[in-house]
Amino acid sequence: MKKVNNIAVLTSGGDAPGMNAAIRAVVRTGIYHQLNVFGVMYGYKGMLTGEIFPMESKSVANIIQRGGTVLKTARCKEFYEPEGRKKAYENLKKFGIDGLVVIGGDGSFKGAQKFSQEFDIPCIGLPGTIDKDIAGTDFTIGFDTAVNTAVEAIDKIRDTADAHDRLFIIEVMGRDAGYIALHSGIATGAEHILIPEHKTNIDDVIDHLTANERRSKMVNLIVVAEGDEFGGADEVARHVKDRMPQLDTRVTVLGHIQRGGSPTCLDRLVASRMGYAAVDALLNGTTNVMVGIVNNEIQFTPLDKAVKAKQQIDPEWLKIVKILAS
Ligand code: ADP
Repeated sequence: MKKVNNIAVLTSGGDAPGMNAAIRAVVRTGIYHQLNVFGVMYGYKGMLTGEIFPMESKSVANIIQRGGTVLKTARCKEFYEPEGRKKAYENLKKFGIDGLVVIGGDGSFKGAQKFSQEFDIPCIGLPGTIDKDIAGTDFTIGFDTAVNTAVEAIDKIRDTADAHDRLFIIEVMGRDAGYIALHSGIATGAEHILIPEHKTNIDDVIDHLTANERRSKMVNLIVVAEGDEFGGADEVARHVKDRMPQLDTRVTVLGHIQRGGSPTCLDRLVASRMGYAAVDALLNGTTNVMVGIVNNEIQFTPLDKAVKAKQQIDPEWLKIVKILAS
């Protein structure tokens, strides 16, 4: 076992529900192992500005159920530059920090990877992102909550769509990844799910809507990931309205509600387990890895591998969507 005495934890990049549960797990596991635990405010920005403070067990009381992040998050331009990272290192050293846990997405991991290669501070990443677009883990902290928020909202939209026999085109988050769209679309019985990983054929969509119209299917839901290459919900709606002006077509963009709210049980469990494993990893001298859960086992993936590869969407899912919506 390598001796680690003072560890720091931060949340960086896009926020995700469950980050608080992960912070709590890191702090309390660290204290259990008699480490001094520090919180860094505003991600890498706080490392640069020195917003670093000691945390106790009670610092993380009553946060497991709260969305957002008590440590706040930010994007930090200076951290892309070597001088910025050096300044961050010097600030950590002032507190004697010899281990860092970064809760964030793939951008944050790229930063952590550079930082731990340049300086003698081991870094462990925890995948905190609603997009689930990180390789080396079956779960990311925040995805389950975000997708359940989307499902709840789409169910409500279906009610009003049904009342008026309307077509709704619903945009969910996912600039590079279609997981929220795919999962929420399947769970709400959407006819079409348009995702960045799969080329959108608008003619197919129109043909299918026309067939639905012929058999008097009244409610049609199309779920679009914001990063679909064809465009977001507005773009899809523009095409549909041009080609099928007789349909009563509406657009709803779910937006930031998907990032907020109390984390689901699953996200709390995943975050707690990963936070615990991160401290364990630091104590065991493991560095420069992301903690993941694969087949219900904790698995470590080197940070560079976690950011280079994305999770793949099994094409079988798209076949399922087609069959179940027919
Ligand atoms: P996320 O972690 O949610 O993907 P970002 O991509 O915005 O969010 O990354 C968060 C922060 O991580 C950035 O603002 C920056 O400070 C740092 N970062 C991202 N990519 C790099 C990089 N290539 N080199 C150094 N730091 C990076």
